[in-house]
Amino acid sequence: MELASGLSRLGTETAFEVLARAKALEAEGREIIHLQIGEPDFDTPAHIVEAGVKALRDGLTHYCPAPGLPVLREAAAEYLSRTRGVAVEPGRVLVAPGAKPFLFFGVLATCEPGDEVIYPNPGFPIYESVIRFVGATPVPLPLHEERGFAFTAADLAERLSPRTKLVILNSPANPTGGVVPAEVNAEIATLLAEHSCFLLSDEVYSEMVYEGTHDSLASYPGLLEKTILLEGFSKTFAMTGWRLGYAAVPEQLVEPLTRLFINCHSCTPPAYQMAGVAALTGPMGEVRAMIDEFRARRRLVVEGLNALPGVSCVQPAGAFYAFPNITRTGLSARELQDRLLNEAGVALLAGTAFGAHGEGYVRVSYANSQENLRAALAHMGDLLERTAGS
Ligand code: PLP
Repeated sequence: MELASGLSRLGTETAFEVLARAKALEAEGREIIHLQIGEPDFDTPAHIVEAGVKALRDGLTHYCPAPGLPVLREAAAEYLSRTRGVAVEPGRVLVAPGAKPFLFFGVLATCEPGDEVIYPNPGFPIYESVIRFVGATPVPLPLHEERGFAFTAADLAERLSPRTKLVILNSPANPTGGVVPAEVNAEIATLLAEHSCFLLSDEVYSEMVYEGTHDSLASYPGLLEKTILLEGFSKTFAMTGWRLGYAAVPEQLVEPLTRLFINCHSCTPPAYQMAGVAALTGPMGEVRAMIDEFRARRRLVVEGLNALPGVSCVQPAGAFYAFPNITRTGLSARELQDRLLNEAGVALLAGTAFGAHGEGYVRVSYANSQENLRAALAHMGDLLERTAGS
């Protein structure tokens, strides 16, 4: 039987494939250090787990409103208003099972064949996948290592056209750890405010900024009205498996996105939403401690990578990824990914898993203990020395 042709346009996330291969090697008795994962290696803080368990015990085990529980929409609006310095209405906040559904439904609700979508490359692979799936035209915005993996307003201006329907931006970024500086954001905001298009600002790593504070595009004049301001619980609160995310969306998108939710998942599990309320309104001590640990690991990883033969790594300003340049190793990104997994027991991702502009790089997630990071760097060094000597 032939399957739908649209499936050929749908991409995937290589992280899940590498994880499966690493698990298969582990099943054969090999030891693998996991640096391919895009999730904090910390437990969800106990008070958040307790709130979820209590909600289940209290009987929140039924369907609930498709856009989200009012109590979570209010807490999320308050958090976004406070952290972004703009007034976000609870009625404009929608809740979904993860941040990811907003990427899928956000593109589905706004774009169709003939429309152009600008997105970062290298970038989170789901952006390009969904753009292609809906038949819109992907317009990659290359990120430059020499600018700390940011881009300039001129780079964006060059790509904006009357057919640009949506611009997707992500700061702090996956896979590079890059952060767009506030001065660049100010210029981008002016450009976008004048252009008739939607903006999807993926800010799921907003709490993980190691120098200065997070600068949100949604805080600039005129932008909140046209922006899907995307936030999540997965990264900040180590809640990847809970599947919970939210976004403040333009007024025009509240009803259509809710309708898409009703057609797909009906609603987000209410007990998990109560855990989300506890996360947004409760103590932040454990989150801060986790981010401090990421900061320490960042130093360890960047120093370690820069000491490896053929590798150079700029200091990432956010998230929990380093994106070293590996061109001088003489290996392609995919070759290095495969050889590190098979020969050195280190799982990480080729930069090309994040788009064509990721060639020459690999992504190292430092969501692993300092001990394991040190061991992984040593294994990488051994392999690269063997390669250089052969
Ligand atoms: N956006 C970016 C940039 C990400 O890196 C991820 C997860 O890796 C997501 C969105 C999706 O997060 P969630 O687990 O909330 O769906």
